[in-house]
Amino acid sequence: TGLVKHFPITRGLLRRTVGHVRAVDGVSFRIAPGETVGLVGESGSGKSTVARLVLRLLDPTSGSIRFDGREIAGLSARELAPLRRRMQIVFQDPVSSFDPRMTVCSVITEPLEAQRISSGRAARQRAGELLELVGLSAGDLDRYPHQFSGGQAQRIGIARALATDPRLLVCDEAVSALDVSVQAQVLNLLRRLQRELGLSYLFIAHDLNVVRYVSDRVCVMYLGRIVEQGPAEALLADPRHPYTQSLAAAIAADPRNPTRRRRGVVRGETPSPSDPPSGCHFHPRCPHAFDPCRDVEPAAVAAGPGRTASCHLLGEADRA
Ligand code: SF4
Ligand code: MG
Repeated sequence: TGLVKHFPITRGLLRRTVGHVRAVDGVSFRIAPGETVGLVGESGSGKSTVARLVLRLLDPTSGSIRFDGREIAGLSARELAPLRRRMQIVFQDPVSSFDPRMTVCSVITEPLEAQRISSGRAARQRAGELLELVGLSAGDLDRYPHQFSGGQAQRIGIARALATDPRLLVCDEAVSALDVSVQAQVLNLLRRLQRELGLSYLFIAHDLNVVRYVSDRVCVMYLGRIVEQGPAEALLADPRHPYTQSLAAAIAADPRNPTRRRRGVVRGETPSPSDPPSGCHFHPRCPHAFDPCRDVEPAAVAAGPGRTASCHLLGEADRA
């Protein structure tokens, strides 16, 4: 709730602090048990920062992070340790995050041993079960991750993330590097695992179609702020914020190839997060910008059942 994260920017040899990036600015959302919240936005929108804050891999400058009803924003590393196993992350490129000398077995059992959950034969047994759970075989335990295709390697990444029996899985661009057909397989795997294990997901991607496929609720981020959020279907069928509208129009434009990367579909470049535009951050690119947009930050207003959006156009309509 109300998460704020500033990063000091350091430049040059002196590494003096020359400014602060408000990478995340007042971001608030909740993830219910068994639910998938999709976080979508262009690169530089602060999505990965939110992921790392949620997992407390970064400390928030201010704000609150609750996990299982417990405030974790201020916990020390030692206090966090027992909670760590309950939240795990799946990265975009699993192979590069694994030590190339480690076998699949050691990749998956490492978190079990690090957290003193199990070791030796018991951990190996668990690793084999996890491989079967993600659609690989226990016979793969002594191979190396780089011997697998991208989709298979991501299955290993998911098996590793599941090793400690987490309740929350943060998927940070987990399928973005995969071919479209492989993406669908991994997304279907994630959906099945969610059903079977009752997992909650924070699913982060720049691709609205991928997010739509897996999410119950969607949060749209732009330059560190959530500009719109609500139930996935309603939000994407009828986006209220001009930024969401341009994202949705971009994927609607290519229905036969829905997950193809499209560049420059939202007109204009994303401004630098270190120097975001005043008022509504989106105003330089917004086709509907009007008087207050340049100077006044729009507040989140109700935009339908369970929905909010932060745009002066909606504020006007509500007052009218
Ligand atoms: Fe566009 Fe203004 Fe709405 Fe921002 S507040 S999205 S600039 S109309
Ligand atoms: Mg990122």
